[in-house]
Amino acid sequence: GSAEILRQLREKLSPSGDVVSPRGRALTEQVFGKPLTPVEVVQTICHDVQTEGTPALLRYLRSLDNADLCADQLRVPADDLAQAHAGADPELIGSIRRIRDNVAEFQTAILHQDVTIEPKPGVRLTQRYVPLRRIGVCVPGGAAAYPSTVLMTVVPAQIAGVKEIAVVAPPTTFGAYNTDMLATCHELGVTEVYRMGGAQAVAALAYGCDCVPAVDKIVGPGNLFVALAKKLVFGTVDIDSFAGPSEVIIVADATARADFIAADLLAQAEHSPGSAILITWEESLIDSVYQELVKQVARLERNDLTLESLEAFGALILVRDEQQACALTDEFAPEHLHIETANPRDQIAKIRNSGAAFLGHHTPVALGDYAAGPSHVLPTGGTCTWAAGLSSNSFLRSGSVTEFDEPALQEIAPDVERLAEKEGLTAHARSVSIRR
Ligand code: NAD
Repeated sequence: GSAEILRQLREKLSPSGDVVSPRGRALTEQVFGKPLTPVEVVQTICHDVQTEGTPALLRYLRSLDNADLCADQLRVPADDLAQAHAGADPELIGSIRRIRDNVAEFQTAILHQDVTIEPKPGVRLTQRYVPLRRIGVCVPGGAAAYPSTVLMTVVPAQIAGVKEIAVVAPPTTFGAYNTDMLATCHELGVTEVYRMGGAQAVAALAYGCDCVPAVDKIVGPGNLFVALAKKLVFGTVDIDSFAGPSEVIIVADATARADFIAADLLAQAEHSPGSAILITWEESLIDSVYQELVKQVARLERNDLTLESLEAFGALILVRDEQQACALTDEFAPEHLHIETANPRDQIAKIRNSGAAFLGHHTPVALGDYAAGPSHVLPTGGTCTWAAGLSSNSFLRSGSVTEFDEPALQEIAPDVERLAEKEGLTAHARSVSIRR
């Protein structure tokens, strides 16, 4: 039963799954005049923005976000950024500075460095890393404000050496009109912020239009429409990963506290939609966590949305033993994995797949969401089996540099000529033999 429940949840949450609320479906029907799948919605929006440019972008901001903007209102004026910063709670600015330092320290430590080897005299081989020139950052703003996403995307990009950073956020009070988000941009030195979100913003960043020059890579989380649009424009630009609706699996044993676990599950469900799953081999924990959920959900501000998420994407799963818990978690490949057991390092050694892992009773996922140092932009929907979370290295492009002197060329030449001739590429062979 447990495996089947997890498989069904994984299906629902996969990049092709339908994590759109009834409200979202009604909006689609209202805007497009017929029920379209999320993929069809995104294809239509991206096509229109690519072919028509700014007018299509403005049209979708009007119909999907209720924002009646003209072209020169899309970019947030420098004064608004400065004012948001000046008016921000000084304690918030203090937190932003401390978090920026944490993120910068970790992201600097993991940054790839150029590697050069000289395997033989006269041969020099280098792998070098150069920062991307210009990137776009999606900051969500549909259901909640995310100044933290600005920190978790912009700081790694700056550490990598990216000079041009364009931030887009939907024209909502949670998005581009959110003064905390704008203050964070200003604090980090970001000057290019646009009032646009959803698939239309992703298309504008990828293809460029009068108002926004095209970027080389688009990063940042978003709802299903944002994530699908990024997938669609990949190839025109690079993208980070499928950072869609959030998920957590909590693996717990008898040492875990039910009230902690319930709080952790609710924190994830609050994303709305967010998937929150407990896997345990301790039977009593299922009951006690359920009781705690009932108690704690009543105290939450966003409890309607959180309950909606829990009902659609939540589960409390009892397994046979630790072995089965690890195997099922690995198969599910969660974005976030939190191990609340006596010896969490034992279990993490048995689980390969997770976007980010949090170990122990005192490491709630929220630490990673807000402050620890690794970015909170992580692969969701099971894509962490092949994708990595965002980091400073996501903003580097690697390239090789090869250098031989004449004796070194003479030594390797016969092998090159032989392979080139076998492939029938005689001009290749001649470009070597002419030098002998
Ligand atoms: P968002 O800002 O990503 O997107 C909102 C936009 O989507 C709207 O402005 C609108 O343009 C578009 N949209 C909404 N409904 C639509 C419809 N029916 N048809 C076409 N377009 C539509 O949205 P959000 O609601 O704030 O969601 C953010 C998501 O990001 C949450 O699910 C959260 O869990 C997730 N998140 C993930 C990570 C991560 O690293 N994986 C980090 C933070 C947040």
